Amino acid sequence: MAGVGYALQALADFLAREDCHACGRPVVALRSLAVPPHAAAAALAQPLHVGPRFAGVDTHPLCRACCHRLSAVHEPVRVGTIHCDGAVSLNSGAGMEPTSPLPLAHDRELRVWAAFETDDRLLAVVHALKFARRERLGPWLARAMSAGLPAAALSSAGTARIVAVPTDPASLRRRGFNQAERVASAFAANCGAAFVPRGLAKTRATAPQSTLDGAERARNVAGAFAVVERARVAGHCVVLIDDLVTTGATAAACAAALYAAGAREVRVACVGYRP
Ligand SMILES: [Zn+2]
Repeated sequence: MAGVGYALQALADFLAREDCHACGRPVVALRSLAVPPHAAAAALAQPLHVGPRFAGVDTHPLCRACCHRLSAVHEPVRVGTIHCDGAVSLNSGAGMEPTSPLPLAHDRELRVWAAFETDDRLLAVVHALKFARRERLGPWLARAMSAGLPAAALSSAGTARIVAVPTDPASLRRRGFNQAERVASAFAANCGAAFVPRGLAKTRATAPQSTLDGAERARNVAGAFAVVERARVAGHCVVLIDDLVTTGATAAACAAALYAAGAREVRVACVGYRP
């Protein structure tokens, strides 16, 4: 039934006059604008091809004017440090208490590679993916990530393991999918890396991070994640994928769990970053 719902939704989007998810203007009127110069924004200006059953059907979730206004991020951002004793300190000033020591020879900086600075345009499409069941936006956003991230972010991704930030079982039931997994599996395919489905799991329920301030966010997710099967990440460079990163608290808690399971190095890649 999920497949039928997906197909009907895609067809309905196509048959309805297509408006930009961000500004609401008809995308057709703006197709004559030049393609944005930055690779990530240029990727989002390209049509989204809808499934083999609808060969030839293209949609445009963002108009070209909105793609031009997206801000690309060119350098990785250090959001915090994972300490050998299992503690986490975040740039926001928040931290997480040590749980158990990590098998690390030295503290590790946590760096985030983002395709874009999060703004209202990007939020419009990420929210359509998350809350309006537009699953096909996952691969489309992943294409922008793999096109826009600097080579250094992916230098060892060919041998890396790609892992998504997990979601609550309740959200999973409500949405039917984990949006970060949709982005991560397509990202892995784009860069020829191995995707580890359900690599991480939540060990307890957490409140939505968007409802909390910086210190509360860190407390909310501290120790809330665990690796499902250590052998799939131990000894590997892991690229952790999320849709949006803000304080980095969720990414840091996931990274600590990956290091605890023996990951050699953890990097974070996301569609949008805004502290
Ligand atoms: Zn627009």
